[in-house]
Amino acid sequence: MAKVIDVVSLYPRDMNIYGDWGNILTVRRRLELYGYEPRLHSYNQGDDWPEHVDVVLGGGGQDNCQKRITADLFRRAADLRALAADGVPMLMICGLYQLFGEYFQTNDGSRLEGIGVLGVYTEGHEKRMIGNLVEHTKDFGDVIGYENHSGQTFLRGDTAALGHVDHEGMGNNGEDHTEGARKGNVIGTYMHGSVLPKNPRLADFLIRSAVERRYGAFEPSSDSVLRARLKHLDEVAGRARDVAATRPR
Ligand code: GLN
Repeated sequence: MAKVIDVVSLYPRDMNIYGDWGNILTVRRRLELYGYEPRLHSYNQGDDWPEHVDVVLGGGGQDNCQKRITADLFRRAADLRALAADGVPMLMICGLYQLFGEYFQTNDGSRLEGIGVLGVYTEGHEKRMIGNLVEHTKDFGDVIGYENHSGQTFLRGDTAALGHVDHEGMGNNGEDHTEGARKGNVIGTYMHGSVLPKNPRLADFLIRSAVERRYGAFEPSSDSVLRARLKHLDEVAGRARDVAATRPR
């Protein structure tokens, strides 16, 4: 019997733009190809919280969608903070990256409190940062994606940047060349695209951390059919990376 991994998709109804659902599909598919059994829980406002959580994935959303989920997010904040402190890997894109930080002061003057898992804060700006993006990371090589946000995010405390961008006008805030944030196994980033299909190293970090935490060791299947499929998936990802990296902003 395959070992189960519980994958939680956070607010997919409201927080899922620019292809973020692809992150769920990627984690699910790669888990299967490694010989594990992914069990997907789509968590929306008012739903019961899943009994078991191994990895949490959250997407981006417009300011009004962020407003809609904030009250419920605070109802789940203690669970999420405890899971993060316990090493559960999480990937939060854009709108949920902002709400996993300390606050998001939107451009229309309202302030959305964040749950403070990451030491970042965000201030809305008139100018949006939009375009294809390559960031250089220490842990996952070059991460390739697409950003579209008005919020400018700044890091503080013991939260490190996920990576760095070469040019001004991109990344967390368009000023300090940082992109994203990482604290323990929790990653926040502005990378849509979706990001995980094109960045298998990042996907595999989440998978490996989830599996090791639950079962002690990551033991991918040696089934040759599954291995061949995974190899094919990585080749497709490689081609997608090559194309995306040359796209102008
Ligand atoms: N509404 C937020 C902003 O514009 C997040 C956007 C997003 O998730 N793409 O900064």
